[in-house]
Amino acid sequence: MADLIALTLTQPVQQPCKLHPQSMCPAFGALRLLTRIEGSQVAMVTDQGCLYGLTFVTHFYGSRKSLIAPSLGTAELMDGKVVEGARLAIETAAREPGVRIIPVVSLCVAETAGLPEELLPRQANGAEVILVRVPAYAIHSHPEAKDVAVQALLQRLGDHTGPREPKTVVLLGEVFPADPLAIEGLLRKMGVEATIALPGRNVEDFVRAGRAAAVAPLHPFYKLTSNLFRSWGTPVVGGAPVGVSGTFAWLRALGNTLGLDPDLVLEVANEERERAQAVVRSQTRTGNVFVTGYEGTELAYARVLVEAGFTVPYVSTSIGNDPLVLPDEMWLRAHGTQEIAYRKALEDDLQALDKYPVDFVLGTTTFAAAAKERGIPALYFTNQLASRPFFLSGGMAAIGAMVDQALGTGARYEALRSYFNEFNEEPVNALGG
Ligand code: SF4
Repeated sequence: MADLIALTLTQPVQQPCKLHPQSMCPAFGALRLLTRIEGSQVAMVTDQGCLYGLTFVTHFYGSRKSLIAPSLGTAELMDGKVVEGARLAIETAAREPGVRIIPVVSLCVAETAGLPEELLPRQANGAEVILVRVPAYAIHSHPEAKDVAVQALLQRLGDHTGPREPKTVVLLGEVFPADPLAIEGLLRKMGVEATIALPGRNVEDFVRAGRAAAVAPLHPFYKLTSNLFRSWGTPVVGGAPVGVSGTFAWLRALGNTLGLDPDLVLEVANEERERAQAVVRSQTRTGNVFVTGYEGTELAYARVLVEAGFTVPYVSTSIGNDPLVLPDEMWLRAHGTQEIAYRKALEDDLQALDKYPVDFVLGTTTFAAAAKERGIPALYFTNQLASRPFFLSGGMAAIGAMVDQALGTGARYEALRSYFNEFNEEPVNALGG
């Protein structure tokens, strides 16, 4: 496999094939959040190959909780045993101690063979059975699968018919654990009484979210979930508390939506803006950075880096273009970003290396390797950024410091490259292929 990747990286860049996602199975996005919920026992309906891979990554990155699945190989599929197998998996899941919800995750094979919702029980042993359809041919990216899963849970569990909880806000998006606490601290100063962070570990949060007075998607790919809230009459606050101007605008929009005291909201927004500006003033940051990943948050990270003083000529993401991303796209284009690739392929990122000057790359594993081959410092987007705060002034400081530190390693990468080039006519392959 490494040889194949190496071949791709050293050959002239071909036109990308965008029929298939180039990241791990998109369904993993849904599985990760579904398995982390306490009282949730996933029943996964797919063939044995998918089950093997997804069980592995779910244990590794998810909740260390086992998935329950029917054994579906070619013989079972030929015999039309998908529904039967799914029902059996649901019965087994329902016997787990303390189970409250059974998400039935239906993947490529089951969706192709057919899994009618009417043939599944709505409840089993008192637990809600909730179908989550995330075949890769329809749901093209890991973040968009999260949206499908959250929407499916809310649709069943959200209590949206009773009285509202005024001044309660849903913060929607998987984020670094300290971020919702920091955001809530600021919102309480403005007069917000409670926040609900979704998707979290608590089933009750999904129930209560239906009663919230407003929802604020922190990430721009919660399209289905936002539409569901709108259908319940819950206002959706656009943007996110990211960067100097983004945070200021978001706080004011949220205050306005909830009918909070405008003077108090302005005072809190001004204070936070001053803190963010102080972060920007505290260090002169320069350098060209590429922000490329598959998490769906790349445009927002690029925005923070531009406000911190960096230049970001190129951004790419696995999610599709959507009105929810548009404000970040327009802002970036107005601040010097030359190209934004949606539903990107590795080939798009490689072509960008030839087109734009770059001092540091935040990218997928494969693309970061390609950048290092050229002596350009690079880090893996997901792991580096998921382990740091991102929102408000604290997030700006953390992200700016990380990129600054990485930029400082440029000379070492170049020295390494020169050293190996003395022994090789061709640059050494960073993947060892
Ligand atoms: S669900 Fe689809 S994309 Fe995911 S591993 Fe199975 S076949 Fe591949």
